[in-house]
Amino acid sequence: MLVKSEGIVLREVKFEDTNKILTIFSRKYGKVNAISRGVLRPRSPLLASSQVFAYSDYTFFKGKSFYHINQGDIIDSFYDIRKNMNRLLYSSYVLELVESSIVEEEPNEKLFKLLIKALSVLSQMNTGFLKFIISFEIKYISFIGYRPCLDKCVLCGNEINEPMRFSKRHGGVVCKNCFSIENFNEPMDFAMLKYLELLLFTSLDDLENLKIPKDIMFKLQDLMVKYILTCLEKNKFCTLEFIKSIQNNGGI
Ligand SMILES: [Zn+2]
Repeated sequence: MLVKSEGIVLREVKFEDTNKILTIFSRKYGKVNAISRGVLRPRSPLLASSQVFAYSDYTFFKGKSFYHINQGDIIDSFYDIRKNMNRLLYSSYVLELVESSIVEEEPNEKLFKLLIKALSVLSQMNTGFLKFIISFEIKYISFIGYRPCLDKCVLCGNEINEPMRFSKRHGGVVCKNCFSIENFNEPMDFAMLKYLELLLFTSLDDLENLKIPKDIMFKLQDLMVKYILTCLEKNKFCTLEFIKSIQNNGGI
């Protein structure tokens, strides 16, 4: 059966001499594994649409366990991501996040649009990566069903005052009464809360004018990564570990 959908390549693995197996986040069918046959032969028409980050209009033949790419018309290769190491690293992290969370053959239109927006903004970005990535993380985790409760205590529903904490397990801020009986909470305060809400509601291409103190950004990034790992039941993100190891060695 032939099916058509836009999609973005999240991962590529060489398969036999001239083929690739791609993990594609498709708009209509969610995550699919697709064979790009003959793509590594010279002048293959599938070359551009079978690379990581490629955003294309695909025609697939749907087999029993795999999709086979019949045709791929490139919409945007996001080639400029490769011109800057920070763009490449943070874009790879964005792909890892998306790949870790989506289920095979389950579409998510909001997440698909967010990913395209993220890659197009990142492909032109020169500064402000950390602010961008926190904004992506809070939107991303909300769009896959784990939007944290930020306007009242997630446990008792009471108004939030300082001191407060953030519960990764329950997904939201926790008031003083509740955090004293609940362990494993993360630090949280009004300033962090305010900026986290701003980062959630500001569009990814509109972050330039949003000024956030550096120390708050570091705290929010730490919190978001811990929260996402808890939601996805993962221990780490390989790309993020790699980014940290580079930063600890004096930056790029
Ligand atoms: Zn409470």
